[in-house]
Amino acid sequence: MPHETVGRVRLVGAGPGPADLLTLRAARAIEGAQALLYDALVSDEVLALAPAACLKIRTGKRAGKASMAQSTINRLMLRLARRGLQVVRLKGGDPSVFGRVGEEIEFLASHGVESEVVPGVTAASAAAAQFGFPLTHRGEARRLLVATATLTEGRTAGGWMAGADPETTLALYMGRDQLAAVAAELTAKGRPPATPAIAVENAGHPHARAFPGTLGSLAGALEAGRPEGPVVVLVGDVTARAYVAPAAVQRLRDRRAS
Ligand code: SAH
Repeated sequence: MPHETVGRVRLVGAGPGPADLLTLRAARAIEGAQALLYDALVSDEVLALAPAACLKIRTGKRAGKASMAQSTINRLMLRLARRGLQVVRLKGGDPSVFGRVGEEIEFLASHGVESEVVPGVTAASAAAAQFGFPLTHRGEARRLLVATATLTEGRTAGGWMAGADPETTLALYMGRDQLAAVAAELTAKGRPPATPAIAVENAGHPHARAFPGTLGSLAGALEAGRPEGPVVVLVGDVTARAYVAPAAVQRLRDRRAS
């Protein structure tokens, strides 16, 4: 028998960090929240938009530390929504891109709670905008492949055929540590190692860092650069159009941003 719908949760994209990259709808939802469950990648600047009286619950931790179990997050959302609160589930970037939004929507629906998704600027878009290259380009990139890499016994799960097409821009999420393995798979499928590629740390933030290179060289460059923030990797000819300031200019920018 279908449940009667009680309560509602907004699954909101917090974008890559700066508050002015939120959609107006997202900003309004945060400003009106009574309970906020937020992930590790949500910036302080965005969190500061929530009212002082709003209950704020951090659900994620970075860098391999234990995050709240998905089942706990689900139960919390449900309990808060059933109390009739304005519940906002805030996620970095776009909730629909590696944000487990599908699972949360299904869980809420199965318990009679409605949900609404508010989109956000995803890391790949923020990186492309900030460093001045397009994700698609007429005659150069007619496909955008949004992918992640998880390793099983030292190998990626495979399925990299589409990424081997020279007209595909690959946006690799959560792939920093697997980049060498992914590059090897793509190369084995025929993508030339000289294909331009770029890794962007903290995309969207004033202190973002870009590591330009090639499919063959980027994993080494990343290892040497030791990024600590989140990193999105883009592979494809379009990334050769990126404007990356020379190191001296970059340092000056960092100093201004800090
Ligand atoms: N929903 C998010 C992605 C969540 S998965 C989005 O749409 O952006 C987490 C991964 O996203 C990170 O490991 C990293 O690969 C990427 N990511 C998220 N925010 C980022 C940022 N500001 N800069 C670079 N990469 C980012």
